[in-house]
Amino acid sequence: MNRNVHDIMKQMTLEEKASLCSGLNMWQTKAVERLGIPSIVLTDGPHGLRKQADPADMSSKTVPSTCFPSGAGLASSWDRQLIEEVGQALGEECQAEGVHIILGPAVNIKRSPLCGRNFEYFSEDPYLSSEMGTHHVLGVQGQGVGTSVKHFAANNQETLRNSINAVVDERTLNEIYLRSFEGPIIDAKAWTVMCAYNLVNGDFCSENPYLLTEILKERWNHEGFVMTDWGAINERMKGLKAGLELEMPYAGPERDQMIVDTIRSGELEESVLDDAVERLLKVILHTIDNRKEGFIYDKEAHHELARRAAGECMVLLKNDNALLPLNTKQSIAVIGAFAATPRYQGGGSSHITPTRLDAALDAISALAERGVAYAPGYSLMEDVVDEAMIAEAESIAAQQDVAIIFAGLPDAFESEGLDRTHLNMPASQCALIERVAAVQPNTVVVLSNGSPIAMPWLNKVKAVLEGYLGGQATGSAAADVLYGFVNPSGKLAETFPSSLEQTPSYLNFPGGKNEVFYGEGIFVGYRYYEAKKKNRYFHSAMD
Ligand code: BGC
Repeated sequence: MNRNVHDIMKQMTLEEKASLCSGLNMWQTKAVERLGIPSIVLTDGPHGLRKQADPADMSSKTVPSTCFPSGAGLASSWDRQLIEEVGQALGEECQAEGVHIILGPAVNIKRSPLCGRNFEYFSEDPYLSSEMGTHHVLGVQGQGVGTSVKHFAANNQETLRNSINAVVDERTLNEIYLRSFEGPIIDAKAWTVMCAYNLVNGDFCSENPYLLTEILKERWNHEGFVMTDWGAINERMKGLKAGLELEMPYAGPERDQMIVDTIRSGELEESVLDDAVERLLKVILHTIDNRKEGFIYDKEAHHELARRAAGECMVLLKNDNALLPLNTKQSIAVIGAFAATPRYQGGGSSHITPTRLDAALDAISALAERGVAYAPGYSLMEDVVDEAMIAEAESIAAQQDVAIIFAGLPDAFESEGLDRTHLNMPASQCALIERVAAVQPNTVVVLSNGSPIAMPWLNKVKAVLEGYLGGQATGSAAADVLYGFVNPSGKLAETFPSSLEQTPSYLNFPGGKNEVFYGEGIFVGYRYYEAKKKNRYFHSAMD
C-alpha cells in the first residue's frame, strides 16, 4: 500500500476526501478501497471496551471485556504507573478485538459533585486529572491503539448537555478546564480528541475556532484529528473551518455532498478540506501500521490487574479502634444487596459487559472461617424502607462479631445523561445502616458510588471504606482490603462536602436551570441559534 499521505491525497477525488469526514456507521470510519484507505473501528471507553461483535451491526452483542475501575476510582490511587498498566491492558484488548481507537480518557473537571458523569472523570484537580489522563493515553497508545481525549471542553454537566453555553473567562478556562487536557494531548500526544456537545463562550465546541484551532492546533501543536461526540454537530461547514475533522457517527450522504458543493461553489477553500484529510489519513494509516493481527490477551491476568487496581483505589475514610483489618476467625454478618449484586460501573456509553464479576459476599465467605450470615437489607428495585428486611439484618448483625454493610448509590442515582439533585444515598440504605449500627458496635460500611455522597450515619459506624465503582473485581478487592491482604492506600481525588451548600458551584449548578425560555420546552442547538439571533436567551455563568 502507498503509505505516503500526500501521494494518496493527490489521487483522491473531492468526493473521496469529503467522505472521510464522517462515519460509515455508528463505530467505523469510511474506507476508500480504490486507494487502499481502510475503515477503522472506534469504541467506547474509557475503563473497558464496549465493542459490538459486528461494529456495522447495531443489534450485535457487546463482546465481553475487562471492566476496570472507572475514572473517579482510578484517580484515588494517585498512581501513574497503575493507570498506565490499566491503559496498556485496554490497548491489548483493543488489539485483540480489532479496535483502532478507544474513546477516552474522559478528563473533564468535576465542577460540582452532582454531575452525572463524575464517575467517569478523574478529579476536581486539574493537575491530577491531567496526570491520570496522560498515563492512560501512554498506556493505551504504547500498544499501538489510539485514544480520544474527551469531552473537549467544559462539559461539566449533563443537564442540557446538547445546548448549554459554558461561559468561562479565559484564565479560568485555561487554568482549570483546559489544563486537564494539556497532559494527555501535549505530553502523551493523544492521537485524537473528542469535542463536547456543549457551547463554550457562545460557540458549539464542534465549531469553536478558539478551542479547536487556537488552543489545540496552534498552541498545543496537536497533530491528530478531532471527532465530534456522537451527534455533536451543528453547522458542518463552520465546524470544518474551525478545525473539526470527523463527524461521528454516520451522517448520511447529504453531509459529504454538502462539503463538496460548498467547495465547488467557492465558499470554502479546498485547502481547508485537505488539511482535515491529511490529519485523518495520518491517524488512520498509523493505526493500521500498528495493528497486531491475531493478538490474544490474557483474560485471567487482566482480571487480576482489575482486582489489584480496585484495591489500590479504595479509600479508608474511617477506622476507629483499628476495627480493620478483620481477622478470619471473627464471625461476620454481610449485609446489603450490593454484597451479592455489586454496583461496579456507571450507566451510559461507558457501560460494558465484563468478562466476569466478583461478588464481595463470595470473597468474604471464602475467607471467613466461621462462615458468614447474609441479609440483603434493602431492595435494589425501589427505595422503600422495608421493616422486615431491616429486622432480618439487625438480627443477624447482633449475633456476629462484626457487621459489614455494602451500600452506596444505585444505578438510577447517577448516570450519563442526568445530573443528581442532591448528595443523598437512598433513604432505605441510611435507615439500614443506622439500625444495624445500633445493635452492632463493630459496623463497617463499604461504599459503591461514582461520586461523593452525604453520610448522615458517619458517627454511628466504626469504619468506612470507599470503594467507588471498582470494576469487575470490586468484590474480591474489597475482601482483600477488609482482611488486610492489601493495605488501603487510596486517597480521595475530590472533595466530599458534608452538604451541597458547601460546594463553590452550589448557586449555579447546573447551568441553565435559570434560563428563560420563550415558549419552547426543548432547547437544542438549532433553537439556540434561533434564540440567539433574536437575543432572547440568558446563559448561565460558570464560577
Ligand atoms: C458520549 C461519549 C461516547 C459517545 C459514543 C456519547 O453520548 O458522550 O462519551 O464516547 O457517546 O458512545
